[in-house]
Amino acid sequence: MILQQDQSILLMAEEVWCKNRMTEKILIHNGKIYQAAGWLDSGYIQIEDKKIKSIHPGKPDAETIMHADQVINASGMAILPGFVNGHSHFSQSFMRGLADGRPLLQWLKELIWPLQSAFSADDMYLASLLGLAENLHGGVTHVVDHHKITHTLQHTEAVKRAAEEIGIRCTIARAWSDRGNNPESASAILDEMENWYADQEISGKVKFASGPLTPWRCTGELMQKTHAQAVKYGSFTHIHVSETLDEVEMTVKETGLRPVAWLDQLGILDENAQIVHAVWVDDAEMDLLRDRNAQVVHCPVSNAVLGSGIAPVAKMLDRRIRIHLGTDGSASNDTQDSMENMKIAICLARAAHQDAANLSNEQALRMLLANRDITVDMDADLTMVRLDTLRSAPIHDLTAAITLCAHSEDVDTVIVAGETLMKDGKLTTIDEDVLIKECTIVLQSLKKRAGIEL
Ligand SMILES: [Zn+2]
Repeated sequence: MILQQDQSILLMAEEVWCKNRMTEKILIHNGKIYQAAGWLDSGYIQIEDKKIKSIHPGKPDAETIMHADQVINASGMAILPGFVNGHSHFSQSFMRGLADGRPLLQWLKELIWPLQSAFSADDMYLASLLGLAENLHGGVTHVVDHHKITHTLQHTEAVKRAAEEIGIRCTIARAWSDRGNNPESASAILDEMENWYADQEISGKVKFASGPLTPWRCTGELMQKTHAQAVKYGSFTHIHVSETLDEVEMTVKETGLRPVAWLDQLGILDENAQIVHAVWVDDAEMDLLRDRNAQVVHCPVSNAVLGSGIAPVAKMLDRRIRIHLGTDGSASNDTQDSMENMKIAICLARAAHQDAANLSNEQALRMLLANRDITVDMDADLTMVRLDTLRSAPIHDLTAAITLCAHSEDVDTVIVAGETLMKDGKLTTIDEDVLIKECTIVLQSLKKRAGIEL
């Protein structure tokens, strides 16, 4: 890392760090509170011990205000459960804007794989900080990083450290493949995962999961073993499936089965499976996803940027399949903007079917919120979005304002486990300007090492 002596990305040296890392008694009032049963037009929320302590309509009395360490006036804002980004690759924070004109496999071979090979652990730390900061700034309180650059334990440790320092919830789905380019041995993968699972804190915000890259890069036998290991530790398998038609054809040629059916035959398709993309799934595969209660992660922007296709998301929702939204990595999106991702999910579904009712605003919002609600005793993970802006006011319908009008720049405040990690549109645990400068410097040297001239 090339930090100047007087610079620090993290605000640890400042008082604000200590103040914000403490969980406080927080009172949020004057806001419009999202609840699945209907918006509470004006109310207040009390947070204590990292949890939502109470939710009330109306205004708090003087005693309630006095009781709080921090009072947040949410006038003009919507208060929602923190957004969930179900799929990302933080290393790709350094690979934005490179996909133009290249389909998935060409893009991987010519650009992404060479850059990934040249990544140092320090690059990984900075790229992770950047990806995490962008997610948090856009209202995300939990992100799943399908962590691809696993050259050394230090690379994975760098992601963990970055997430812990910023304070967001992060699941590191440690990517692996045991066939094709640079295969890893089964014992190396299983042993490393055993250590990560054993070391994770039950109440911690950073967790681990198994991340087989794709069905065509992994053997069935090792996917069965890593899945069983993940389930033993209360975790899950997170895997790219049927992103492109080519991939489906490869699996059919090899196994005689379509990818989802093959995963089912292996015994992996259950409630602990996260199927990322599912663009090219047929009716029988969607029935399987429903019957096994597997979760799908829908990545509409990434699928559109790479020209991969449009997932049949309304058909899956009709079957009550659990779906979260994912931005995917910034190399194929090319941001971590979860609100834009939600709006494009709506636009693509409706355009593809010439049907304005194909995906409702509420359905899209439920995917972004991972079907969570604001309820008493839930973890205090909240995102507050300004709606008193030129693009959102005046408001007819709060859900439409959030899904179709507001942008991620309108996110004002983000609270994770009772800690205020963003306030007044600024992150509290990291210096955004220093981070951008540092990443810009480091990227030049990374490109040189990867032999990429752009
Ligand atoms: Zn991905």
